[in-house]
Amino acid sequence: MLTNNLGYPRIGDNRALKKALEAYWRKEISQKDLLIAAQKIRLQNWQLQKDAGVDLIPSNDFSLYDQMLDMCLTVSAIPKRFHPLIENKEVSEADLYFAMARGFQEGVLDITAMEMTKWLDTNYHYIVPEFYAYQQFNFLSHKIINEYKEAKNAGIETKPVILGPITFLLFGKEKESGFHRLDLLKNLLPVYKEILQQLNELGAQYIQFDEPCLATNLSNTELTALTAAYQELKAVCPNIQLILANYFDCYGENLSVVLKLPFDVFHLDLVRCPSQLEDIINTNFTHSKAKLSLGVIDGRNIWKNDYEKSIQLIKKASNYFGDERIMIAPSCSLLHVPCNLDNENKLDGELKNWLSFAKQKIAELIDLKKIIQNEGEAASILDKNKAAIHSRKSSSSIHKETVKTRVAIITEKDTQRESGFVTRQAKQKALFNLPLFPTTTIGSFPQTTDVRKLRAQLKKGILSKTEYNQALEAATVESIRLQEELDIDVLVHGEFERNDMVEYFGEQLKGYAFSELGWVQSYGSRCVKPPILFGDIERENAMTVDWTSFAQSQTNRLMKGMLTGPITMLQWSFVRDDQPRETTAMQLALAIRDEVLDLEKAGIKIIQIDEPAIREGLPLRKEEWQAYLQWAVKAFKIAASGVKDETQIHTHMCYSEFNDIIQNVADMDADVITIETSRSQMELLEAFVQFNYPNEIGPGVYDIHSPRVPSIEEMETLLEKALAVIPAENLWINPDCGLKTRNWPETKQALENMVEAAKKLRIKE
Ligand code: GLN
Ligand code: ZN
Repeated sequence: MLTNNLGYPRIGDNRALKKALEAYWRKEISQKDLLIAAQKIRLQNWQLQKDAGVDLIPSNDFSLYDQMLDMCLTVSAIPKRFHPLIENKEVSEADLYFAMARGFQEGVLDITAMEMTKWLDTNYHYIVPEFYAYQQFNFLSHKIINEYKEAKNAGIETKPVILGPITFLLFGKEKESGFHRLDLLKNLLPVYKEILQQLNELGAQYIQFDEPCLATNLSNTELTALTAAYQELKAVCPNIQLILANYFDCYGENLSVVLKLPFDVFHLDLVRCPSQLEDIINTNFTHSKAKLSLGVIDGRNIWKNDYEKSIQLIKKASNYFGDERIMIAPSCSLLHVPCNLDNENKLDGELKNWLSFAKQKIAELIDLKKIIQNEGEAASILDKNKAAIHSRKSSSSIHKETVKTRVAIITEKDTQRESGFVTRQAKQKALFNLPLFPTTTIGSFPQTTDVRKLRAQLKKGILSKTEYNQALEAATVESIRLQEELDIDVLVHGEFERNDMVEYFGEQLKGYAFSELGWVQSYGSRCVKPPILFGDIERENAMTVDWTSFAQSQTNRLMKGMLTGPITMLQWSFVRDDQPRETTAMQLALAIRDEVLDLEKAGIKIIQIDEPAIREGLPLRKEEWQAYLQWAVKAFKIAASGVKDETQIHTHMCYSEFNDIIQNVADMDADVITIETSRSQMELLEAFVQFNYPNEIGPGVYDIHSPRVPSIEEMETLLEKALAVIPAENLWINPDCGLKTRNWPETKQALENMVEAAKKLRIKE
């Protein structure tokens, strides 16, 4: 029975990769230094897994930015607008790669970045490949080969991991009409064949093809393409063992086609979908020779594995198929969990004993194998694990009767505003007296090193709480003055006091805990540190009233209160797996509702409840969507509906395709919704238009992920597009998202242009 790891976090302990990348982009270190830092992380990861005793150690799971972008470079899927960079001898392969991710603005060249979107139902973002009719591919970046060789040179045999051709194509986008991206498969496969051949010559024994599209609904055409592709690929090198990796859900209705594919190993996510083992047992797979990789360790969450439960599944499988046909694995790549629990010194001991990060999950893999094979310490390993699991089930720090009761008595009325939108809109317009096309921002302003330093100094005790607050007050006032100077209509306080939009609230809620170094990659060099929601949620005190009231007291303009919505709190935390997510969402909703009411009481007239994560919470299979959306929308409404008609509720959502959830977005009934649309040239707005979305809406007019400053004309063009389809009285003007990742100079310039674009538009109306 072999152990099989699908992928390891690439950011390095202490976010080494982030630091190197950002230093390189700031031109503080050379490209060589960056590549050395990256190599160091890879070697450490491999060594750690080798030392632990993992049999199948992944390579090419590392990436300088994103694995989809890696694939674009590997197969030379480089959008036409970047071609001037290929021809430019001064631009290296790495710089071309970063330009595709982040845009390029130098000299006469001004190239927009590629689009980014969420990786299935995670908070990891990938770069969306762009496809053209008759597109040709060739084997350009040899990263996969180089990393395999690099490991081999270090004495470590690895299993190269590659994104499968079907997922690569399906998760991309056609950039012109008249073809379907799957039509490109025949042009693409030769590159995959070449890769297989080269790896074969180098002596690779396994290759893992990631095809997580198999966790979604696929059409017959897509399944046929899948079959054809892998028959062709298998024929190239019949001796390499091909592993099919699907995760985050079961193979579902794709299973019968999948099991006929010429793979040697099929990986199952048994955490999300334990019942699929039974499904497979019920097929004639028993007669085939292929192996099963049993994903029993949760690669998406930080809880210690329940060994007894895992062993049951493993034994069941080995009874049917025999030990030699079974591999033990995490459910998916460990990319989605933090690196190492050993680095945590401040977590409560009881809680820490319930947790497991990437390094510990690798150890769990080995433990499970030991228990199954009944080696030496097997019994004591199992006992220790049982004790930890039991202590979590019975702990009084988790279970609070008052919270459970309040959730039990939620009624329909708690989810409804006093009046419908039309009445509310009239009251709000009369009260606020805002100009046509009001301008606003999404909440955060640049979290400069100075601001972050304050927090670090507070933590270290260098600054007192009073000094810290004074410094933040100064930053807040400065941002307010700036917004007034820029002539923005509805102001924000800037969120300087927040390290992160979820962590900030979690820190003030009972039932949440925080790691010190539990970073997980979000996109590129950006990492998030998801809080750990381990127990029943209680809000003991107001969380944002002080800062919001302070900010409002500094200006005559309207100041928005800024909150994070219940679904985003849920989605961006590591949440408990001992009760349904819905129950946890209701607990969070009640806590946010109390906060909304406290803000209203303090005189705040506009309150934004951010829900950027609603869409990413969608189950991967459509048949499960409505059940989820119903409770997700309900949670938002519980949070939003306690206020009077005159109080304006905003919500904000980013990275969303709204087409198939527009009815539910409308059901949320926020007075104003701001959304991300600029990178898609307002394409994302279409859903709202087709649906005749009734409430007010602010389609983002500029991309905040890139340092690029858009011109007034560019934003005007986007706004005119929006105005062609949205009634003027419903249109707001704002950036795509919060500005915390940006610098001040580019932010000022971009906002100045944005306000100017708004004013020009007002004159035309
Ligand atoms: N209010 C948050 C901010 O501006 C929203 C962030 C988000 O949508 N991801 O930072
Ligand atoms: Zn956003």
